[in-house]
Amino acid sequence: MATRALHEIETKALLAAAGVAVTPTELACTAAAAATLAARLGCPVALKIVSPDIVHKSDVDGVRLGVASSAAVAVAFDDVMRTVRARQPGAHLDGVSVQPMAPPGGVEVIVGVSVDAQFGHVIMCGLGGVLVEVLQDVAFRLIPLRPRDAHEMLTELRGFPLLRGVRGRAGVNLRAVEELLLRVSTLVAQRPDIRELDLNPVLTYPDRALAVDARALIEVER
Ligand code: ADP
Ligand code: MG
Repeated sequence: MATRALHEIETKALLAAAGVAVTPTELACTAAAAATLAARLGCPVALKIVSPDIVHKSDVDGVRLGVASSAAVAVAFDDVMRTVRARQPGAHLDGVSVQPMAPPGGVEVIVGVSVDAQFGHVIMCGLGGVLVEVLQDVAFRLIPLRPRDAHEMLTELRGFPLLRGVRGRAGVNLRAVEELLLRVSTLVAQRPDIRELDLNPVLTYPDRALAVDARALIEVER
């Protein structure tokens, strides 16, 4: 089976159409275009390499966060392109994505979809960062999710107190995270050609949940 990788911007468009909140993200192919986009979207912005050959953008030093002005964006564009070209000479580079920085203080959640040989589409969620990587603190369910599943996926995480709120720290909007899981489930149920889908991270806040990075793999006809 042949597959095609959808980059960040394509995947966010798919998610936005399914009602999932994502940072508005646009492609720049030149430094001048990046600067213009940043002025329109509002600084500070994040810049990220866009390439069909690069899955983990930070691994090739292809992400710049908190770029504060249009002038700095133009410089950062050239820097990202030059750095990634040196790190991965064979990669085809489409350009750089530009998006507003999400507010600080969000709790990072990851959401993933994959296909299990036996069970079909499965959805996973967990806390981002060290908790998910070291402790494997994740929950899995079959798609389609029921509303109760979405709630239980969160409460069964060992890190759930971080979402609920601990020691005077406000919790995040659990309903918004549950709603996001349900919308991803509905999207995948309607689009069985989606083989993989990653929202990593979703930044969660007391009032909302916002996906700032996403990628997908879809099945294509040869
Ligand atoms: P990678 O391909 O390395 O996963 P990401 O797009 O996830 O690249 O960016 C790396 C990190 O930068 C994210 O895990 C997140 O912490 C931060 N980040 C990315 N985009 C934004 C944004 N729009 N606002 C705030 N932080 C962001
Ligand atoms: Mg990411």
